Amino acid sequence: MYSLAFSILFVSFIILTLIVRFWLASRHIRHVLTHRGAVPAEFAEKIPLAAHQKAADYTVARTKFGLFTLLVNTLVLVGFTLLGGLQWLSIEVFKLTGGGMGYQLALLAAFALISGAIDLPFDYYKQFGLEQRFGFNKMTRGLFFADMAKGVLLGAAIGLPLVWVVLTLMEKSGDLWWFYAWLVWSGFQLLMMVLFPTVIAPLFNKFSPLEDQSLKSRIEGLMKRVGFASKGLFVMDGSKRSAHGNAYFSGFGANKRIVFFDTLLSRLQPQEIEAVLAHELGHFKLKHIIKRIAMMFAISLAFLALLGYLKSQMWFYTGLGVDPLLPPGQRNDAMALLLFMLALPVFTFLFSPLTSIGSRKHEFEADAFAAKHTDARDLVSALVKMYEDNASTLTPDPLHSAFYDSHPPASVRIRHLNAAPA
Ligand SMILES: [Zn+2]
Repeated sequence: MYSLAFSILFVSFIILTLIVRFWLASRHIRHVLTHRGAVPAEFAEKIPLAAHQKAADYTVARTKFGLFTLLVNTLVLVGFTLLGGLQWLSIEVFKLTGGGMGYQLALLAAFALISGAIDLPFDYYKQFGLEQRFGFNKMTRGLFFADMAKGVLLGAAIGLPLVWVVLTLMEKSGDLWWFYAWLVWSGFQLLMMVLFPTVIAPLFNKFSPLEDQSLKSRIEGLMKRVGFASKGLFVMDGSKRSAHGNAYFSGFGANKRIVFFDTLLSRLQPQEIEAVLAHELGHFKLKHIIKRIAMMFAISLAFLALLGYLKSQMWFYTGLGVDPLLPPGQRNDAMALLLFMLALPVFTFLFSPLTSIGSRKHEFEADAFAAKHTDARDLVSALVKMYEDNASTLTPDPLHSAFYDSHPPASVRIRHLNAAPA
């Protein structure tokens, strides 16, 4: 009974999500195309019409591609759950492995490989079709497949030990397993923050110390003014994959490093780079990053507690197309993890505007921080260049933007910056 009700709820949320996403996307496409004919007045002097139209076409192409992947992913989701894909997979894996922990790990690995294989043509098309067509792809096919191979190996090297620990806790640590799993998960996240800049990112990119001395002393001056200590300034060869530019800092504590994409450095003036960095430092100084991490930990604790409850409910499995008593005599912890991971986004999607709102608030605060410590006009001109170079639309549908965007629309950000006290 509960099982059927849960299936119906699951399907209802899937349909609701599809409707909302299609509706928002069609609004967005219509809005962008309506404004394709002319550069918005406030940007008319800065952005050529051709660039504006390229941004419109790129946005429309990406949105349509997003809808297509959404449809396929929804079919895959239903195939894995209600149509019995996971049930079939677990029986096959059980036959091959004979059960036990090996069976559970193999089930997770098999699922990851199958999903990866389904995603592969989409990733490939995105890079060599879509991004290529708009001049953003800088990757060779060799690099694409080398990245993929590294990703699989890294995923296995990091993911398998992690899930082994979690599965062991689920089996041996009693009713509060989810709390211990949360401790492990949180510790893992923190460890990754330390390892990512120093160990993982260098597997994919080259990081060289920033050599431009005048830019370096300019940035060091800024860091001193705002009181930020860093382990170093690095340039990353982002241009080997994409023409999109960015700057970020990673790590924490004494490990922090600031990373500029070479693509960004080649396009922005030193004072613009300083302003962009001031914005990023704003996120740090205003404690946005700590808040985000704390929020992430709190949410994962809540979700793991929920999983702790769901794991022992028959309807959770049967409602999603899996018999928890199969394969006979085996623990279904790995299956519970898989089902939870697949079903959760279906139920949380409609809440995503909440995170977007929080994130946009932080963006305004970081912009204000940058305006206070550098010249707001430099951030404005850097933003205009970055919008043009990334072919980001200046005329998003307001509702689409409010729902999804982590950053406020360019025109709104710039209006705020121009109003900032000099
Ligand atoms: Zn930001």
